[in-house]
Amino acid sequence: MVELKTERQIDEMRAAGRVVARALAAVREAAHVGVSLRELDEVARDVLRAAGADSPFLGYRPSFAPTPFPGVICASVNDAIVHGVPDGYRLRDGDLVSVDCGAKLAGWVGDAAVSFTVGRERAEDRRLIRTAEAALAAGIEQARPGNRIGDIAHAVGTVCRAAGYGVPDGFGGHGVGRSMHEDPGVPNEGPAGRGMRLRAGMVLAIEPMVIGGGGDDYVTAGDGWTLRTTDGSRAAHAEHTVAVTTTGPRVLTAA
Ligand code: MG
Ligand code: MG
Repeated sequence: MVELKTERQIDEMRAAGRVVARALAAVREAAHVGVSLRELDEVARDVLRAAGADSPFLGYRPSFAPTPFPGVICASVNDAIVHGVPDGYRLRDGDLVSVDCGAKLAGWVGDAAVSFTVGRERAEDRRLIRTAEAALAAGIEQARPGNRIGDIAHAVGTVCRAAGYGVPDGFGGHGVGRSMHEDPGVPNEGPAGRGMRLRAGMVLAIEPMVIGGGGDDYVTAGDGWTLRTTDGSRAAHAEHTVAVTTTGPRVLTAA
C-alpha cells in the first residue's frame, strides 16, 4: 500500500533528509587514506546523535540477512556494490567508496547515498560515479504526477546502459515514509509507461547502482550483507529521497 504524504509531512521528511545530507557530507570530508570504515560510521553516528535522529540502518535485519546490521552507514568499497558493512578496513589510495545513510527524525525517514574516491582518482572511476549521478538525476526528473514508476526505471536504466555499465538485477529504489522501505518498488531498469501512476505526495528513494565491468551479476559476500561484483570490477551507487509534488520533484536529501 502506498501512503501519500501531505505537504506538511513532506516538510517534516525534508528535515530528516537534511540530517542524512549532513551525515554524508561529514563522512565524505573524513574519508582519507588510512581511515577505517568503522571510523566513518562513527562520524555519521555523531551527526545523527547531534540532530536527535535515530538510524533506520542500525539493527536492521531483512529476511536475507544473517545478523542485524551493525552500523548507521553502509560503506561499499571498490567491487562492493551496496550493503557493505563498516568494519575495520582502512581506506587506500584510489579506493572508490559508496556510502549509504539513513536518518529517522520525528518519525520520518530519509535515505541517500553518494560515491566518491579517496586520494588519486582514476578516470574510469570518475566516469562510473558520474554515470550513477546522471542516472539518478534522470530518474528524479521523471518523478512527477501523472508519470509512472516505469518512467523512472527507464530513465535510470537508459543512462546506465548507454555508458556500457551493468545494472544489478533485483535491486533498486523504494517508497520511503515512516519506514525506510515502503511500497512501491522503484526498479533501476524497465520499460517506460508501465507500473504505478505517480501522484503528488508519493515519496520515493531512487538509487541507481552501476557495475563497471558491464555485467549484471553479483554475489553476496561471506558477511551475508555485502553485494560484490562477480567480475571484480568496481561499482558506484547514488541515491536521493524524492517527493512527487504538483510543482515537480522535491529532493528531500539534498544539502
Ligand atoms: Mg539507501
Ligand atoms: Mg534506499
